[in-house]
Amino acid sequence: MRLVIFGPQGAGKGTQAARISEKFGISAISTGEIFRWAIKGKTALGNEVLEYVSAGKLVPDELTIRVVSERIAADDCAEGFLLDGFPRNTAQAEALDDLLSDVECGLDAALVIEVPEEVALRRLTGRRVCPDCGRNYHVDAPPENNWTCDACGGHVVARDDDVDEAALKQRLATYHEQTEPLHEYYEAKGLLRQVDGTGTPDEVFTRIVEALG
Ligand code: AMP
Repeated sequence: MRLVIFGPQGAGKGTQAARISEKFGISAISTGEIFRWAIKGKTALGNEVLEYVSAGKLVPDELTIRVVSERIAADDCAEGFLLDGFPRNTAQAEALDDLLSDVECGLDAALVIEVPEEVALRRLTGRRVCPDCGRNYHVDAPPENNWTCDACGGHVVARDDDVDEAALKQRLATYHEQTEPLHEYYEAKGLLRQVDGTGTPDEVFTRIVEALG
């Protein structure tokens, strides 16, 4: 199964991506996470993307598309994948279609998780993440033991771009301007599956499984 998932920041994409990956046995690939790890590891990619990520701006398409094309060519993606945070605009969606036409298997569905802006903002300001394994938490649902990640023992913190108010506003504005048009793009292809992202992670996941039929 080949899926993409999009929605505004705070819609719960990362949390749901982990569940979808587990249930359907496909790799969840988050471009944001790839960039954050590269920045943390001070790699060449990290140096290239740092200024964009810290300002809440999109990394240039050419670079992002190259990263995704290399990642989905890996062995663990042979049976499918879930792309979280890619595509972020129509040019990236077209590039993904081209990449998949090369391997003769297109997307099965494009999931969009929808939440009212006030819900998204409340989730974002309380969001915490393990920088070592990427697992998401919230101040209302912390790890069991004093901000130590339940999965890997890493030290759970707030994301830099969540606590920077200017970066956060920029990310939301970029979503409305550039990513929302993907609704129409995938609707026209008959691939769009809209899911209500309010409620608990379990409730949202049940809706996703139903939407995927
Ligand atoms: P995310 O974790 O998806 O919120 O992404 C964090 C940041 O990584 C974004 O604000 C962008 O700077 C960058 N980023 C992630 N995915 C993409 C993408 N598909 N295209 C361009 N930039 C991206």
